[in-house]
Amino acid sequence: MNVAADPLSRLTIRKIAWEVREIIGCVQQEFFPIVRFIEWVLCNPNNEYGMEFEIAEPWEMQNTYGTTNTGKNKMIIRSDVYDRAVQGSARDRFTLCHELGHFILHQPGSISYARGNVPAYRNPEWQANTFAAELMAPVELVKNMSIEEMMEKCEISYQAAEIQYNIIHK
Ligand SMILES: [Zn+2]
Repeated sequence: MNVAADPLSRLTIRKIAWEVREIIGCVQQEFFPIVRFIEWVLCNPNNEYGMEFEIAEPWEMQNTYGTTNTGKNKMIIRSDVYDRAVQGSARDRFTLCHELGHFILHQPGSISYARGNVPAYRNPEWQANTFAAELMAPVELVKNMSIEEMMEKCEISYQAAEIQYNIIHK
């Protein structure tokens, strides 16, 4: 059995990612401060999210970089991934944005089991990756940039910048 999420188009995900930036007034600066967002906004017990955030050791997580359980309101990130994200590693910051995508898009009830192949727009991993890319490199801010400029200003990997560039310029 595969897992399927409620259908979400790239345009819908783009809109949601932009709304997340609007919440913290980050609509002019290309760099999205994902570590600070998780620690100061999501995990702040004084607001409506109040998410629990846990850092786990690599031996506990093995090949998993992070998990997000929206039912339990909890995100767990592998310690080496978290440390590198704090230091600014593009790939690990993407992982945190991906987990934030699960947290925002996949509330309990939006995910179910499905028979056969699941189309991309219903695949929770595609949705979370799309969210991460749109959050880190919003079309609104990067539409006139080269791949290199996107990497530098948004602090995203070459791979992520290239994919986003090709989507915007197709
Ligand atoms: Zn995922």
